[in-house]
Amino acid sequence: MRRQVLIGSLTIGGGAPIRVESMLKRPLGDRDGCLKQCESLQRSGCELVRVALPELEAAGHLKWLLSRTSLPLMADIHFDPALALAAIEAGCRSIRLNPGNMPLHRLTEVIRMAQEVGVVIRIGANGGSLSGRHLEAARGDRARALFLAVKEQADLLLDNGFFDIILSAKSSSVGETVRASVFIAEAFPTFPLHVGLTEAGPGDGGIVKSTAGIAGLLSQGIGDTLRVSLTDEPEREVKVGYEILKALELRMRGVNLISCPTCGRKRADVMRLVRLIEPLLEDLPDGTTVAVMGCEVNGPQEAKHAQLGIAGTPVGAVLFRDGKVEGEYPFEELPDVLPAFFRSFNNPDI
Ligand code: SF4
Repeated sequence: MRRQVLIGSLTIGGGAPIRVESMLKRPLGDRDGCLKQCESLQRSGCELVRVALPELEAAGHLKWLLSRTSLPLMADIHFDPALALAAIEAGCRSIRLNPGNMPLHRLTEVIRMAQEVGVVIRIGANGGSLSGRHLEAARGDRARALFLAVKEQADLLLDNGFFDIILSAKSSSVGETVRASVFIAEAFPTFPLHVGLTEAGPGDGGIVKSTAGIAGLLSQGIGDTLRVSLTDEPEREVKVGYEILKALELRMRGVNLISCPTCGRKRADVMRLVRLIEPLLEDLPDGTTVAVMGCEVNGPQEAKHAQLGIAGTPVGAVLFRDGKVEGEYPFEELPDVLPAFFRSFNNPDI
């Protein structure tokens, strides 16, 4: 039986939906900025947000933020036990520790306090902070060294009777991250695993890299919570996280929009049609498949699995439902016709 942990009312692992996380990109001292970012992240569907706690002075800001947001926060501590204790005292119900140099007797102090108040500890090893000791033990195999770093700390927590843990190992290399996560999943099959790359980079490259690693793991059934780390706004990380889950049919948030790549038969500007329907998608039920196709002859048939669709004609578009054409309209009429067409899916009685 896979174990489930609870951060406030958020369940992770043990059959819960795969969670989508992000990280605040502002210092805690910017109280209003952090609160605004939490609110915006919550609207975008983020379920857990990590926040860097680099110094003891910031614990007061953390307490302030915790009292104003309902979004679960995870305090990011590297290896300073005083910071871990301060985060717990501030009311934070999850902390992330980077296994490394924390003295063992101080770690047991953290464990005791976490146990007392019900705090989840994520053990997150990072490719950038691998110790020479673990690298040596793994004979230079960085993925195995990451695994060993996580294992050492996890064993310590488990030996001390602490079981509310989430495990993760990340690097900026897809291969390293995937192998390290597979090692962890094999050694600790019952505990929730956080998956993602670190420092994946900006733009398309960062998204592709993150997707390759995260999707590679999720498609093997590995991963209970994820973060797409991008050099971008945190809301973008959340959006990409859900897109990955949607593509793997693991979780649906928002509409599944498909559009044809177009070819020589194209009768309309597909991007123009996409722009027309995009504002209407938000009101559709999660998981609705909407197709935008380049021609009316093949489009509805090629996208017959879509519940709603629009296909270009030389002068406008046809609208189709479950592969069957419902009507044909000139382009000028589409702004009036489309809202009613999409609303009718929400309420079939219209
Ligand atoms: S829907 Fe039409 S335009 Fe789009 S790829 Fe198919 S045949 Fe080509």
